[in-house]
Formats: sequence, structure tokens, C-alpha cells
Amino acid sequence: MFDSIYTKALLFLIIISFFSCVGTKIHDDRFHTFTCKSEWSETEIEICESTSTIIEGSDSTKIIFKKTNLPGQGQAQPLLRTVWRKPKNRTYVVSVQFCNKRNDLCFDILPDSAKTGLVGHELVHVQDYKNRGFFNMLWMGIKYSLCKKYRTRIEYVTDSTTIANGMGYEVLNLLRFVENSGLAS
Ligand SMILES: [Zn+2]
Repeated sequence: MFDSIYTKALLFLIIISFFSCVGTKIHDDRFHTFTCKSEWSETEIEICESTSTIIEGSDSTKIIFKKTNLPGQGQAQPLLRTVWRKPKNRTYVVSVQFCNKRNDLCFDILPDSAKTGLVGHELVHVQDYKNRGFFNMLWMGIKYSLCKKYRTRIEYVTDSTTIANGMGYEVLNLLRFVENSGLAS
């Protein structure tokens, strides 16, 4: 199966690209890490950092910011290997949509205010996870993936909380941009 030189070269490339981004070092002295830092502009890093100071508790939570292929615009989840820890001691991953040929509506093309709205929304998810133990989170994950009604309610509450944190303009800009882009599926 692996006898072709092309297959070997392809496997090598896949392994290299996998480890180049996944093996992100989490700093002990800093709360926030940006994977493949070259993918993040100075402004985007600044947006993540300043939004963390708005959503209470986010500036003192270990968070990995990551650009990756997603089914939606953004995603927040605990880092799997830290999921057993006390909620406040876990590391969380906030992912945003990576730009490539398949993802026209990616993080890089959003206006700055929409980026802020998106990061704010994901950080509210993170703060919600911090109130949930392992089994509560597991149960939530099951309901979230199986029940559309529950998913809609969680997203509605998350948007409302983001707006209550003074980010109404940013959330609205994000929704408006996605709606008007003609790129949303
Ligand atoms: Zn959400």
C-alpha cells in the first residue's frame, strides 16, 4: 500500500503539516496562545486580547486561539486532555474559520467589529463551560449535537449574554456581514 514514492512523500507532508500546527506549546506564564502564530495578524491578536478583557474571566483563563476548518464561523471547546480537571483549571480552545479555497467566509475577511463579535461569542461559551463539570459538559455536548432546538437555545442565550456584555454592535455586525456576504451556506 505504501510502496509508491508518491504515497510516501504525501504521508511525510501530511505528518509534517500535522505536527507543525498541532504541537503548539502552551505557555505557563501566559493565559493565551495563538496556534501557528504567523496566521494571526497583529490586529487579530489585539482583538482577541482586548475582547478577553471585556468578557469577564477570559483574561485569566487558559485559551488557545486557533484557525482551522470548521462547519461554522467559530467554535469553543475544552482541550480534550484537560477536560477532567476542575473547570477553571482546564485549557479551552477557541477556533475560527481558516481561509482556503473551500472556506470563502473565513475569519480573515470579516470586518474588525465582526471579528470582535465572533470572539466575544466564543468567549461567552468558554465562560459557560467553566460552570460545568465533566458529566454536565458531556451531557450538554450530546444534546447540542443531537437536538436542533437545544442548539438554537444555547446559541440564542450565548448571543444575548455577549450583547449584555456591551457587544451588541459587534454581534449585529457579524450577523449582518454573514447574512449579506452571500457566502453563508
Ligand atoms: Zn456559539
